[in-house]
Amino acid sequence: MVQYNPPIRDYNFLLHEVFNVIEMNQRLGYEGFDRDTIDMMIEEWADLMQTTWLPSNVDGDRIGSTFTNGKVTTPPSFKTAWNAAVEGGWFATVAKAEHGGLEAPLFLRNAMDEFAISSNMALSTIGALSLGVYELISEHAEQKLIDMYAEKVALGEWCGTMCLTEPHAGTDLGIINSKAEPQNDGSYKISGTKIFITFAEHDLSENIVHMVLAKLPNSPEGTHGISLFLVPKYLSQDGLLSEQVNGVTCSGIEEKMGLHGSPTCVLNFDESIGWLVGEENCGMKLMFEMMNRERLATGMMGIGLGEVAYQNSLQWCKERRQGRDLKGTKDMHESADSILVHPDVRRMLLKVKANNEGSRALGTWVGTLLDELKRGDSEGKVHAEALVSLLTPIIKAHATDLGCESTSLCIQVMGGAGYCTEYGVEQFYRDVRIAPIWEGTNGIQSLDLAGRKITKNFGKNLRHLMWPLLEFIEENRDDARMSKYTKPLYQNVKGLQQLTLLMISEGMGNPHFLAGSATDYTSYFGNTMLAFMWAKMAGVCIEAQKAGVQDDFYKAKLALADVFFNEILPDNIGLAAKVQSGHKHLMEYPEVLL
Ligand SMILES: Cc1cc2nc3c(=O)[nH]c(=O)nc-3n(C[C@H](O)[C@H](O)[C@H](O)COP(=O)(O)OP(=O)(O)OC[C@H]3O[C@@H](n4cnc5c(N)ncnc54)[C@H](O)[C@@H]3O)c2cc1C
Repeated sequence: MVQYNPPIRDYNFLLHEVFNVIEMNQRLGYEGFDRDTIDMMIEEWADLMQTTWLPSNVDGDRIGSTFTNGKVTTPPSFKTAWNAAVEGGWFATVAKAEHGGLEAPLFLRNAMDEFAISSNMALSTIGALSLGVYELISEHAEQKLIDMYAEKVALGEWCGTMCLTEPHAGTDLGIINSKAEPQNDGSYKISGTKIFITFAEHDLSENIVHMVLAKLPNSPEGTHGISLFLVPKYLSQDGLLSEQVNGVTCSGIEEKMGLHGSPTCVLNFDESIGWLVGEENCGMKLMFEMMNRERLATGMMGIGLGEVAYQNSLQWCKERRQGRDLKGTKDMHESADSILVHPDVRRMLLKVKANNEGSRALGTWVGTLLDELKRGDSEGKVHAEALVSLLTPIIKAHATDLGCESTSLCIQVMGGAGYCTEYGVEQFYRDVRIAPIWEGTNGIQSLDLAGRKITKNFGKNLRHLMWPLLEFIEENRDDARMSKYTKPLYQNVKGLQQLTLLMISEGMGNPHFLAGSATDYTSYFGNTMLAFMWAKMAGVCIEAQKAGVQDDFYKAKLALADVFFNEILPDNIGLAAKVQSGHKHLMEYPEVLL
């Protein structure tokens, strides 16, 4: 049986000690969310996830969602788990009060997303998608649509989907074929086939609200000619469901490597009635807006599955005995020592733990920046926008790559048991593998970072990042206990600046150079950001110890910071060499010999 203890203490530390969210809440008009309220919400959500979502996870994998005669049936325990969260009003946590929401700060979603993902990633996807659909409707749809759909979707009574991908158009959405024909009453008839659509058909809610990308007649070529439409499964009148089906049919679901509980559907629209959301031909812009939140939520998948895999493999390792400590037998009364005496076992476990906790800190920071972006003053908004723009592709790509590496290491550290279904860890490895693919592949995230985000506004985004980083290093320069973190951090920040200049200068003349180096550049960037997070966390722990607080939590954090700076950050040396070596060896290899 899989175990999971939501990392509540770590979130308390991050929210209150590292990022001081209560000060931010007061400044941004979230006064109702004081420390007690935030902590209570996190604890209650954690409890709900442990008691209802976690037990259903294995059903998602073994029973899966099944397809018969156009209908998708989820495992029975999914309904119990989903309904428990809907009845508690949890999905509307960050929604507007007028739609039944609490208007809670957005950073709270990080903890909620992570606990949900660790407990049942397949089920968590529908909640994350529905939140994105709610945001699109409430921010960009006409009032009539807001009145009909926003509250139902906010509360999770109706679910939402994102319909972008078509059989011939995945990354390259500019070539989609789905069409929208304007009607005299202001609606549109949508026709086309979408594939790979998550939870496009299911039995968890009475209606499903699809956000569909399609092209209007005579629209411009490419992504500038795509519009966004709201297309419900059932048409509704004044928010009440009518049984009138809307020409939306599911013709099958995919067999997949993992995430069996989350149905991946082929969805056909046959003159389905829909309504434009936002302006004509602005569909991609709106989708990208929604994706800031979705990409952070996807990054949380790497962290959530890395965490639950770590907890379960650690539990197993604590009981496993093999071999003897190389420095001499540890446990004379047993035939073998615990495998935790072996440096290589510790290397694997601690690497996972350090990457999980560093990525969690980065995700939390991005969560708070989304609040600054939403409610900050004009200066705060500019700063937050620059940072969110840079850090979103990093958290999406780096945290999900690390999630794959972490779940793989968690199998490895368990030996053969890790490969066996009985212990549950192999499911996390299979489930997390989608995260680097969807919401824009990690390759595309890296191109976005290297090709657009760092060059945008003549490098202004990067300057917004360098200020707090260099300021932090300067502030801590004279602290003897901090120098083992700030010195390597400084070297890597300088390295990042040099690599960025190289990417821009070489990339301008030769886009293949930039594209060939983008993934390694993103990993270098990601590691440097985690180094910043680890140095920040170490600073808080050192200050607490100086103030006389004796707490093993701080001791463990500082020891883990040492793991990060000695075991993980040095990877940047190799990554820098790869960025510098560019693209020639890749592009000169003859295609016919591939
Ligand atoms: C389980 C699952 C659930 C999904 N859920 C949804 C959903 O709910 N809604 C939805 O709309 N879609 C969904 N998708 C689709 C998903 O977003 C796409 O699979 C993803 O965007 C990649 O598109 P593709 O599969 O067509 O790959 P392709 O676009 O064919 O890419 C293949 C490879 O080529 C690379 N590549 C492509 N173009 C470029 C380029 N210009 N430069 C460099 N490299 C490039 C990619 O990085 C990738 O490695 C889902 C997919 C899966 C498997």
